[in-house]
Amino acid sequence: MPEGSAEDGLHGGEIEVTDDRFARVGALDVRRMLPRRGRRTVGAWCFVDHFGSTTIPFGAGLDIAPHPHLGLQTVTWLFAGEAVRRDSLGTEQDLRPGQLNLMTAGRGAAHSEESRGGVLHGLQLWVAQPSATWDGPPAFEHHRELPRATLGAGATATLLVGNFSGVGSPARHDTDLVGVDLDLEFGEVALPLEPNFEHGLVVCAGALLVGARVVEPGQLAYLAPGRDELVIATRSATRALLIGGAPFPESVTMWWNFVGRSEAVLLEAWRSWTDRDGRFGEVRSALARVEIGPPPWRPAER
Ligand code: MN
Repeated sequence: MPEGSAEDGLHGGEIEVTDDRFARVGALDVRRMLPRRGRRTVGAWCFVDHFGSTTIPFGAGLDIAPHPHLGLQTVTWLFAGEAVRRDSLGTEQDLRPGQLNLMTAGRGAAHSEESRGGVLHGLQLWVAQPSATWDGPPAFEHHRELPRATLGAGATATLLVGNFSGVGSPARHDTDLVGVDLDLEFGEVALPLEPNFEHGLVVCAGALLVGARVVEPGQLAYLAPGRDELVIATRSATRALLIGGAPFPESVTMWWNFVGRSEAVLLEAWRSWTDRDGRFGEVRSALARVEIGPPPWRPAER
């Protein structure tokens, strides 16, 4: 729930700041920023995990065994460390900081993610696919280089997806969406925003002054549509992700790693994974695939 809000005056609207909750993914402790009670999505962004923050003693590295996805895109973004991803499309891809790893699951894909050891700091995000594409074919993109915009002295924006400050990312997006890595030194910077979008700021290192609020790692600042600019300030080196998009117009059903439009569809996906019926393909990983029990609404067996 929002812990409070404040006006920033110039460009209207409240800033809602919510705290994370801890979650465990494989052997990895993460800070789950989305979904939250009362805040399921920001645009089509429907899931944000922050792992390996410097302020919390995190345990083991990324060691996520093969698991399935449906109806969403996975975005992996590293600030430090190195990982390898394998997926059911046959991809084996090293991932390093500054590179965008984007898997479109569509009607079904599976992948594994393993760190190369040592320090690891980054984000895993999901983007809900719209009805037009959510059961379409799976796809994979890796972008080694991404466009950048200079926002001011010591303020660089790297475009993961969408358009920002006159720069556009080549990454696929199925809805109006933006994702921007902000690398900030000391000072104040004005972020140009798309007024039709809602936005979220996830601080991953340092701290941001957003309006009258200090936002730190473990907090999500949410901004409703209707802004064309947001002034933020930093007092020390700060790394943050700006996510945004047109408010997602569809009602989605989420369970486990699946995004669908009904419980029946999610149950069917679980059955496909559990029965290994080929829908999710095979991932060439040494790790044993992730298996879980049925969804809570599963009807009684006949
Ligand atoms: Mn995954």
